[in-house]
Amino acid sequence: MADDCLLCRVAEADAFFHRRRVWEDDLWRLSVVLRAAADAIAERLR
Ligand SMILES: [Zn+2]
Repeated sequence: MADDCLLCRVAEADAFFHRRRVWEDDLWRLSVVLRAAADAIAERLR
């Protein structure tokens, strides 16, 4: 990959940030699910 080519750099950056955003979305969803599960367990133990 040519680092001096603007189009290639933009495409690479797009792919990187898209992957990163997807990953963060998954992490956020996972943390919401875990929090909901923890709340449900706490409700049961109360
Ligand atoms: Zn290029």
